[in-house]
Amino acid sequence: MKPRVAIIGAGWAGLAAAITLAPAANVVLFEAGKAAGGRARRVGLGGMALDNGQHILIGAYRECLRLMRGVGVDPARVLASQPLCWHQIDGVQMQCPALPAPLHLLFGLLGAKGLCWRDKLALARVLTQLRVRRWQIGHDVAALSWLLQQGQSAALLSGFWTPLILATLNTPPAQASMQLLANVLRDSLGAAQADASRLLLPKVDLSALFVDPALQWLAANGVDVCLGQRVTAVDWQASPPQVDGAAFDAVLVATAPYHAASIVNDEKLSGLLKAWQYQPITTLYLHFEGRVALPQTMTGVQHGVGQWWFDREALSGEAGLVSVVISAEGRHSALTRAQLTERVVAEMRQQLPDLPPLRQSWLITEQRATFAANVGLSRPAIRLNVKSGYLAGDWLCADYPATLEGAARSGIAAARALMQDWKQEHDANV
Ligand SMILES: Cc1cc2nc3c(=O)[nH]c(=O)nc-3n(C[C@H](O)[C@H](O)[C@H](O)COP(=O)(O)OP(=O)(O)OC[C@H]3O[C@@H](n4cnc5c(N)ncnc54)[C@H](O)[C@@H]3O)c2cc1C
Repeated sequence: MKPRVAIIGAGWAGLAAAITLAPAANVVLFEAGKAAGGRARRVGLGGMALDNGQHILIGAYRECLRLMRGVGVDPARVLASQPLCWHQIDGVQMQCPALPAPLHLLFGLLGAKGLCWRDKLALARVLTQLRVRRWQIGHDVAALSWLLQQGQSAALLSGFWTPLILATLNTPPAQASMQLLANVLRDSLGAAQADASRLLLPKVDLSALFVDPALQWLAANGVDVCLGQRVTAVDWQASPPQVDGAAFDAVLVATAPYHAASIVNDEKLSGLLKAWQYQPITTLYLHFEGRVALPQTMTGVQHGVGQWWFDREALSGEAGLVSVVISAEGRHSALTRAQLTERVVAEMRQQLPDLPPLRQSWLITEQRATFAANVGLSRPAIRLNVKSGYLAGDWLCADYPATLEGAARSGIAAARALMQDWKQEHDANV
């Protein structure tokens, strides 16, 4: 007999859980929004299919890539894969050749521009030290203080570490967890396969990348997807638990932490989440009158408000379109929409004198884009304190900051735990 399972939330975690459960359970997937995908989904702007925020994936996202293939998406078709490249238009530039780790990094560092030899050695030393320590920090501390202790210079901090921490952890370095940063470095720069550190830049919008094919696959595999249906109450005391009055053998809550607390209604979880903070990510879409000649598909800016510029024309063919990403809170937070746009365009014009006139712009700030990857963040367990209750979401993947891969891994892990418990209970009753 198959269990009847309710999954609440059709972000990447809920979709991953539903795909994992579909062959073995009767699944109903509830999503409050009109569209699935949560914090990584398509939005229509100016007649173009864009995203609620520019995302990047890396080769180490093995579960995301596996899920994509499973629902019929060929990653090579929808993702532009490029060797690790760090190109700040006004700062450090480093291109890692397609060699096995750590050779790719070594050669990348040797040829790096914008860093003196002393800084290159200091960077190589700290990465070697992390590798020797198997990427374990011991007692977790703030990334900034750890890096200062390791003798990383001001130039390295501003030209490499700060932008890297903001891009990967979306948290200011003074509060970001060094252990989480080390985990990300372990699975990218430190991985044995050079592929793990490759940058995978979406050529299509995020819904076309995974969400829509996943929904089609789920429908074809018997999953009942209920879009626009916000779950308002789960009765965990009922046996079996009830979701808005309907009985299910198990319930998997796959929402962001700030939504899970009210659905789960567990004092311990609410207490734990009180200490959590959230950080914004801003994506500014700039549509110019003509082609913008960026030096790289993903170009960084060290001395600017706009942190990364993405060449959307090169990636997905939208003529004259550039997306600019600004991670975490900072001095930009005080600017109005018009001021921010003006500032970013001025920064671009300073570096690219031939920049065509701006035709149109759109600014999306996701205020709670990710949880702050702070030092010593304690994560809840996948199994809830109630029978047949499970949690999934990027915040459950203890090894990672908030990422698509963390969401996918947590969804798969929760689905597997659920099926394991169900099988055990079922076998015991036979
Ligand atoms: C602007 C931005 C840029 C980002 N950039 C990157 C990046 O470059 N690379 C990367 O790896 N990650 C990035 N991330 C993080 C990544 O998008 C998230 O980690 C991931 O999407 C989280 O997925 P999730 O399924 O855990 O949660 P969510 O996406 O939040 O999904 C939860 C779902 O639950 C639904 N829900 C909530 N309450 C209910 C209810 N009561 N009933 C039914 N449904 C409910 C919500 O509507 C939502 O669809 C970025 C995030 C943002 C916002």
